[in-house]
Amino acid sequence: MGERDGFGGKPDRRVLILGGGFGGIYTALGLEKQLKPEDRTEVTLVNAENFFLFTPLLAEVASSSIDTSHAINPIRRMFKRTRFVEGEVVGLDPDKRTVTVRHPGDTEYDYPYDQLVVALGARQGYFGMKDVQEHSLTVKTLGDAIHLRNWAIQMLETADVERDSVRRAELLTFVVAGGNLTGVEVCGELNDLVRQAAESYPTISQRDIRVILVEAANRLVPALDENLSRFTLQRLRALGVEVMLTSRVDGASEREVRIKGQEPIPTRTLVWATGVAPNPFVQDSPLPKDEKGWVTVDAHLRVPGLPGVWALGDCARVPDVLSPGKFQTSAAQQAIREGHHLARNIATYLRGGAPTEFRYRSLGQMATLGRFNGVGLIGPVPVSGFVAWAIWRTYYLYRLPRLEKQLRVMVDWTADLVFGRDISQIQTYVSNVAGDEHQHDSGARHPQSSQPPDAVGAGSSGGADS
Ligand SMILES: Cc1cc2nc3c(=O)[nH]c(=O)nc-3n(C[C@H](O)[C@H](O)[C@H](O)COP(=O)(O)OP(=O)(O)OC[C@H]3O[C@@H](n4cnc5c(N)ncnc54)[C@H](O)[C@@H]3O)c2cc1C
Repeated sequence: MGERDGFGGKPDRRVLILGGGFGGIYTALGLEKQLKPEDRTEVTLVNAENFFLFTPLLAEVASSSIDTSHAINPIRRMFKRTRFVEGEVVGLDPDKRTVTVRHPGDTEYDYPYDQLVVALGARQGYFGMKDVQEHSLTVKTLGDAIHLRNWAIQMLETADVERDSVRRAELLTFVVAGGNLTGVEVCGELNDLVRQAAESYPTISQRDIRVILVEAANRLVPALDENLSRFTLQRLRALGVEVMLTSRVDGASEREVRIKGQEPIPTRTLVWATGVAPNPFVQDSPLPKDEKGWVTVDAHLRVPGLPGVWALGDCARVPDVLSPGKFQTSAAQQAIREGHHLARNIATYLRGGAPTEFRYRSLGQMATLGRFNGVGLIGPVPVSGFVAWAIWRTYYLYRLPRLEKQLRVMVDWTADLVFGRDISQIQTYVSNVAGDEHQHDSGARHPQSSQPPDAVGAGSSGGADS
């Protein structure tokens, strides 16, 4: 690799990192700090997209609170020495110690490794309900967030001219399934978006809009204490959200969401914000997995039986040594700490030392419930309302990589408070498609299948749900 590696010539060893999410990025950033030129080690990171997605801000992209490109960072600008390769990981041969990557343009190359880090995350799970998968939107990738925003605005545009009252009511009903942290955030943001946007549609009143949150458990955000669950419920209801507890979505079609044992809800919009399932590549790979398909690792983040292979983040089942018998939660804060720890372990191992166990106790959990509202636990201290919202924003602004993006998000948030949200649809049509002057967004719930510009979510299909 030469100059950029800092040592010149051929490397003595190669570290290959699969996945450019929280786990992979923070491992690579940690290795840039830990490894010295005399370690003569080349670090390569492979990711399906050439950007790092900051998922905690994704619901705000969907609700137009921040600009589309401000929740992502170009991976190449995040590193000084790490080599970045864009492509989809399609093969792993632990005997030859190579990984096969399919690059844009469909060329495939093998990449050799001495140390391999698997950080490929998880995909959306649907508990085996194919109709729900087909007829729902989700918020997992940047494309998902852009599509959800466009979809919600399209519903308002269509309702504005719809004369049939039944169809109009369907168009103005938005159902979110899943009342945990991500679900309440998505619901709060979607509620803000459609209610604020509706002010620009003289034919649509606030009373015409229904935003419904469906949760299977008997309280919202079971990860938090009961008082905070009650607070979340009250706040969302005060903001006009209808909350259905002990209600389980068990099917969906283009025009309704079915709830077990209850009347179906007529709607064109189901946002699926619950359920995770293993990454399909990981699932089919020779990596050892537990019965649900998560990669098994020991407390040092080593994959048993495969020397030199490590795994972390959402794709792995990381033992929680501070609570024996339990496992680390799948969350960005865990993946970041695991990444830092793994970088130290790899550097130590390469120098002949012994890796150490990953020990981490969560700092707490927080969620926003739309503008000026939040809820969470910081250590043992419960916080709610404006204070929680302000802490959430400050913390994630600080956590967002690169000053440039921090400044851009700060400007977005300020502009949003002053001017409100932008309600223009971001069109993805191209003008030079043969036989059609304008290739419009099809209006399908899954334009990804037909429209490459939205197809940014590798690892989002196939495999069994957990
Ligand atoms: C909407 C939303 C909000 C969230 N909010 C929070 C929050 O506020 N706080 C918090 O702690 N956690 C939050 N999370 C959870 C957090 O995003 C995950 O726990 C975290 O991203 C896990 O990191 P990871 O590196 O394991 O996986 P990911 O971040 O998912 O990264 C995996 C990467 O691997 C790539 N990839 C997958 N398959 C392939 C392949 N075959 N080839 C090449 N590349 C591939 C993907 O494109 C992706 O870039 C949120 C998640 C979502 C969806």
